[in-house]
Amino acid sequence: TISPLIAGNWKMNGLTHSLGELTELARLLTAGEAPRALVVVCPPATLLAAVAAQGASSGIIAGGQDCHVNASGAHTGDIAAGMLADAGAQYVIVGHSERRTDHAETDDEVRAKAEAAIGAGLKPIICVGETEQQRDAGDAEAVVIAQIDGAIPDAAEQHEIIVAYEPIWAIGTGRTPSLEEIAQIHRVIRDRLVERFGERGQIIRILYGGSLKPHNAREILAVENVNGGLVGGASLLAKDFYTIISAV
Ligand code: 13P
Repeated sequence: TISPLIAGNWKMNGLTHSLGELTELARLLTAGEAPRALVVVCPPATLLAAVAAQGASSGIIAGGQDCHVNASGAHTGDIAAGMLADAGAQYVIVGHSERRTDHAETDDEVRAKAEAAIGAGLKPIICVGETEQQRDAGDAEAVVIAQIDGAIPDAAEQHEIIVAYEPIWAIGTGRTPSLEEIAQIHRVIRDRLVERFGERGQIIRILYGGSLKPHNAREILAVENVNGGLVGGASLLAKDFYTIISAV
């Protein structure tokens, strides 16, 4: 059995005052029963050290949203995986569809980022997912499998990685696939991971992301091979994020 993980991706949202939501989340997490899920918060890099420091006492783990493929060097504006680790991160999202779109990241680059993350002692959360056009054309499974094959490094055989399935058309839209569609893609991902990594493929977490909200979290998180969630908008409010965490 895999212990579930719920990660919040704040994206490009959050200023110092947003740490009030973190304080509130910490209060909610420590007030009641211990959460059944690992809780990760991925704030903008400017808040990473503060999230790592403030989250520690309530079990909130900090994560980055992206890292560079190199360990250091002349890459203005970029952040190395080792710097995220240095700031207190334990996880880093790589290959989010917004990075793939805004920065033309390819599966090869995402794989290199995942390798860099592992090299720095971080656990990469590797994102995959189809566009609406690809789903309508009946290509969702093929697209996701190609991304899994291309973006997951061989190092996943010995090191912990996490996969996040985020259908692009479900991100920020309030729309989600049906429970059957989620089950189907997660099954296909699981089979591929087991094919490639054997026993280890059985224990790799596969998160669902895309309009995961307080009202649909319970049913989605109960789907077979859904081992947690990657939450965007609903992770910005402590109360909503806590409801999702509690739905595990
Ligand atoms: P929303 O939860 O806002 O749809 O975002 C999902 C996402 O992209 C998380 O990485």
